[in-house]
Amino acid sequence: MVLGRFAPSPTGVLHLGNLRTALASWLSIRAAGGRWIIRMEDVDGPRCRRELGVVQLRDLAALGLESDVPVVWQSERSSRYHEALARLREAGRLYPCVCTRRDLQLLASAPHVEDGLRPYPGRCRERAWEGFDRALRFRLPDGRVAWEDLLLRAQADDPGSLTGDPLLFRRDGCFAYHLAVVVDDGAQGVTEVVRGADLRSVTATQIRLQEALGLPRPAYAHLGLVTASDGSRLGKRAGALGVEGLSNCQVTPVEITGWLGWSLGCLERPEPCSPEDLVQSFDWSKVPAGEVRVPETWI
Ligand code: GLU
Repeated sequence: MVLGRFAPSPTGVLHLGNLRTALASWLSIRAAGGRWIIRMEDVDGPRCRRELGVVQLRDLAALGLESDVPVVWQSERSSRYHEALARLREAGRLYPCVCTRRDLQLLASAPHVEDGLRPYPGRCRERAWEGFDRALRFRLPDGRVAWEDLLLRAQADDPGSLTGDPLLFRRDGCFAYHLAVVVDDGAQGVTEVVRGADLRSVTATQIRLQEALGLPRPAYAHLGLVTASDGSRLGKRAGALGVEGLSNCQVTPVEITGWLGWSLGCLERPEPCSPEDLVQSFDWSKVPAGEVRVPETWI
């Protein structure tokens, strides 16, 4: 049984790029007759807020995208992450890191390596084990990782050169994105991961972590980003409106779905529709790999 997931972080309103990812994941799974789930990735303490997650779920539901099983919130699953750390420790794959708080924050708070983050240079790699009350890093093995992306086709990366040994546990007790995402994809039986192209560069690191934990590798699809109509990155200033904001601009949920479906290669032209209307025509070979611009009349 194929199982796909949409895994937003509840740090703000879902913009059209996030909604496009959710719809593509949903369509791919529905077309294959599988199961689709939503997981809230709220491990990153203060940046994540439950109420924002609730709004995200409401917006997804407004488009007709609902989880087939009760939504999992990562903040409630610490024991699983602790267990995974214990296994990695036994396998000699963890080491304590005493680099400064500022370094750790930069390295841990976001999965997006492109956002000016540098690979960890491995300063603490030879430190002796000091217990679970330290910041902990995963010792990456040498060598490239190859995988077949459903959209981008053959991919290969050296995870070390992109992320360095990733931080899995912060001294303040927070589990890092890489650990939680890999543990939960494994625990929930996820077979297909659809997400934005900004996360392509961390895939090799996550595959290494899956291997160390003996977890199966899901299929990956990294979708081109949605940009503002002038090509700039969607962000607050560029008017990254969510479902509610677009509704206030007279763009209805069926119009949003129609535009997203068109951008995913399911329709010849954007026209109002529901996700169900798009299932039959969804095909990864028709999904454009590049960036998509939001219509000028929208934002
Ligand atoms: N929670 C991550 C984000 O919102 C996505 C994780 C993933 O899809 O692997 O950026």
